[in-house]
Amino acid sequence: MPTVNAYAAQDATTPLAPFQIERRDLRPNDVQIEILFSGVCHSDIHQARSEWGPGLYPMVPGHEIVGRVTAVGGQVQGFKPGDLAGVGVLIDSCQDCPSCAEGLEQYCENGHTTTYNSRERDSGNLTFGGYSSSIVVREEFVLRVPESLDLKAVAPLLCAGITMYSPLRHWKIGPGHRVAIVGLGGLGHMGIKLAAALGAEVTLFTTSQSKAADAMRLGAHHVIISSDPAAMKAARTSFDFILSTVPTSHDLAPYLRTLKLGGQLVIVGAIDPVGVHGGLLISHRRSVSGSNIGGLTETQEMLDFCAEHGIVADIELIDMQDINAAYERMVRNDVKYRFVIDMASLGGEAAAD
Ligand SMILES: [Zn+2]
Ligand SMILES: [Zn+2]
Repeated sequence: MPTVNAYAAQDATTPLAPFQIERRDLRPNDVQIEILFSGVCHSDIHQARSEWGPGLYPMVPGHEIVGRVTAVGGQVQGFKPGDLAGVGVLIDSCQDCPSCAEGLEQYCENGHTTTYNSRERDSGNLTFGGYSSSIVVREEFVLRVPESLDLKAVAPLLCAGITMYSPLRHWKIGPGHRVAIVGLGGLGHMGIKLAAALGAEVTLFTTSQSKAADAMRLGAHHVIISSDPAAMKAARTSFDFILSTVPTSHDLAPYLRTLKLGGQLVIVGAIDPVGVHGGLLISHRRSVSGSNIGGLTETQEMLDFCAEHGIVADIELIDMQDINAAYERMVRNDVKYRFVIDMASLGGEAAAD
């Protein structure tokens, strides 16, 4: 098995550090990808630090992967060496349940396999993510990356982008819809870009006046300071759809009041949805829903949509060696809007196979 360079957390409390991992030998339906860029998602920090329950160590985070195919198994049809390729949050699922049959692998009823902090379905080996020089993934979970986009800024589309795109598409957001995005971070900035490109009239809810100008630059039409009671009152019953990107439990009631009749509020984090009073729902037939990333078919559709509309993430490129400092800055919300690791800084294969 090829040994490759990576950065790993050895437990929940020590910083990430250089580490060598083994990637599996190619199976007939496998694609081997040299990783060029790896986005840094907030969930990387949560998992590396076991903030979502005990993590599996050693852990190599990273699930926003863009790279180039270096080898394929004998049965691979859709990729050849030299092609660009992407890998997101999922690398496997049962491929057999009703959700998988619909292309909704993120809702696999037998449990999907994530790119890291998970175990391979058959071998039980730990999965290792994108903070590494290469990865091997079965073809069905590899995405085609458009050559026309800025590759380093494409990486965050694989998690942040699809997490925003999937609910916007599921609820058929388009021209004539008034959409609000709550929070301007890695997710929120993609939500603004995608909702605007879909033709919606987009408002950002933020607590920070300093983010207003940036929101407009990203494509928002309006900004509402959510800590301003008068502004929140003026916005009552005005939105068709609200997408909350806030990663912590927060009071949804003020936002629910801004939904019009039949409006939908969608959360994308495993948060406690505080303030969902029945009165707020039944008075305007409002709904609260959740959404989790997207399936492979929809993720490909999102990448193609982004190519068509020239959409990528706003990123800050870092070296692999900067990852621990980047985590500290992310915890302080000090990034516009996604760190992406230039994997050339890590160095290539550690040893021949
Ligand atoms: Zn993510
Ligand atoms: Zn399944």
